[in-house]
Amino acid sequence: MQMNDRFKKTKKILIKKVPIKGSLPPVRGPLGQIFLSLIIFLLLVSAYSSLSGLSSKTSDVPLSELAQDITAGSVSGIVISGDKLAITYKDGEEKISKKETNTALTTTLKNYDVPADALSEVKIEVKNDQGFLYWFSSLAPIILPILFILFFLWFLSRQVKGAGMQAFTFGQSKARMISPGDLSQKVTFKDVAGSKEAKEELREIVDFLKNPKKFLDIGARIPKGILLMGAPGTGKTLLARAVAGEAGVSFFSISGSEFVEMFVGVGASRVRDLFDLAKKAAPAIIFVDEIDAVGRVRGTGVGGGNDEREQTLNQILVEMDGFEPNEKVIVMAATNRPDVLDPALLRPGRFDRRVTLDLPDRKDRGEILLIHARKKPFAEDVNLSVIAERTPGFSGADLYSLMNEAAILAARENRTTVAQFDLIRSIEKVMLGPERQSHLLSEREKELTAYHEAGHALVASVLPYADPVHKISIISRGRALGFTMKLPLEERKLQSKKEFLDDIAVGLGGYVVEKNIFEDVTTGPSNDLQVTTALARDMVTKYGMSEKMGPIALESSGGKPLFGTGVGDKDYSEQVGSQIDAEVSKIINDAVRKAEKIIKDYREVLDAISKKLIEVETIEQKEFEEILVLHGIKLKKKKDIEHQK
Ligand code: ADP
Ligand code: ZN
Ligand code: MG
Repeated sequence: MQMNDRFKKTKKILIKKVPIKGSLPPVRGPLGQIFLSLIIFLLLVSAYSSLSGLSSKTSDVPLSELAQDITAGSVSGIVISGDKLAITYKDGEEKISKKETNTALTTTLKNYDVPADALSEVKIEVKNDQGFLYWFSSLAPIILPILFILFFLWFLSRQVKGAGMQAFTFGQSKARMISPGDLSQKVTFKDVAGSKEAKEELREIVDFLKNPKKFLDIGARIPKGILLMGAPGTGKTLLARAVAGEAGVSFFSISGSEFVEMFVGVGASRVRDLFDLAKKAAPAIIFVDEIDAVGRVRGTGVGGGNDEREQTLNQILVEMDGFEPNEKVIVMAATNRPDVLDPALLRPGRFDRRVTLDLPDRKDRGEILLIHARKKPFAEDVNLSVIAERTPGFSGADLYSLMNEAAILAARENRTTVAQFDLIRSIEKVMLGPERQSHLLSEREKELTAYHEAGHALVASVLPYADPVHKISIISRGRALGFTMKLPLEERKLQSKKEFLDDIAVGLGGYVVEKNIFEDVTTGPSNDLQVTTALARDMVTKYGMSEKMGPIALESSGGKPLFGTGVGDKDYSEQVGSQIDAEVSKIINDAVRKAEKIIKDYREVLDAISKKLIEVETIEQKEFEEILVLHGIKLKKKKDIEHQK
């Protein structure tokens, strides 16, 4: 395995969610909704029960009949509770009746001309109707269903907390807001290292937000939209927050994917809501992170979700066009796929300012490391410029996680300061994932891996345009069984065809060794093959580095955009396609031949490196160069390379 794929980690910035007014009726939140439906339900229930109560409480026996029965002597007892009468007859029959509420039963009966001696034979009992049982028995029919429904709703809300309850709040923007007064979350340009040009561009925006009158008085039109472009982890989000922090304005941030949900029309209504909010809080910055999620080229009709995305995008455009010239709201957006954005977004008056963030160079890496070193106690041996030198291709986010890993390593070993070797170990960890010491290789696997890595390393050391080897290891990390780390002698922005060709040969070094020395091929080099083939293809289709195809770019730098120009839309014919394939395999075959020759010519060096690797598992640059010198291979120097170019 060669080190080409990298592990990207991005830090999540925790920003508190503020409840934001939505475009729904006044009852807010899931709880409010439950209460509303509960009250309606209660009203229904009580209406029903009082209606049904009326019919069931009509007396079984009218009072007049009761009076006759008592006079006739057939009643044995009456139990009075409230105005209800439970009558027991001598023959065991039970009936109910009702008396007038405010008069005593005896008085009523006397009014019906019941003789006193007949009345005295009836056992009259008065029950206290305030008792718990009374209340319970009369309220249970109402309360029990309510409890049941409540439980049901609660259960439901637990089940569908994510999706179902959002049905009540979907129109709201969901944006996170950082107000200028929130010092704990304040980020300024001081927290962003490097990116000098970007900061220079954005300083103008800060100026405007701080002092809009100056610009408006002179009739200047301030850009409405700024698009931050750059690889993941280059600090786009950070920089956007820093602009808000510098200017001291409110910062609304939302991610492109948050606009689009399961309901059609949600995206557009969220956009409206967000812009309304920002206008109220003006001066303000609206930050749409990962705008490519909604801002892809429209009208390609691939996939059903497109309509929703298009509506959302249209709404963003409408809102931006609708800005009054003196509305002090600026929209910032970030993307790492500027090539797939809809051209309408890039028109003047929308995101017409574009700021590119590059991966940091050595000096910037040093500064980023310094920023993240602020709160960490370091041992005296720490030299951050060495770390910066050894981390080409690291993004700001990678450097952040490198610092963090180093601190974790030190803490795990109960040290109070972070040492240089913690930092060095973390470089590999960030690049390749953690070491897997438990992943034991069998004898044969170990030998094979050692030869494989030695193959990469040897080819890299012999070929003039390949980067020198920095470290070889057969300790498995992440998914790789071993790795060979190469570092360029110098940071470079351009790569030449010769370098690419040598790189491909180095990449195939492991495969060639397995095939020629072990006379069999394992699944080990599959990643190597992917990487080298992709590189060879890019040489042909993107960089015009094939003699036969000539200087034509057949694919844009972003690769084939799936939604951009439609699926299967190739810019070239089948014929050209097969020519490309032929060129790619020619490059690969040449590289294989080159590697094979080196492995034959320098067989003892290969054996020596592999033997050493099996013995010590990891070889650092110095030991490796000693082996090379011992076998008469010239080391690469900066001057040599420059001379050769
Ligand atoms: P992006 O949005 O471009 O993917 P972020 O802004 O989320 O990247 O960066 C992730 C983290 O990386 C930041 O929170 C910060 O800690 C660190 N970082 C990135 N670039 C820089 C930089 N130029 N200076 C300091 N820290 C940086
Ligand atoms: Zn390999
Ligand atoms: Mg980001």
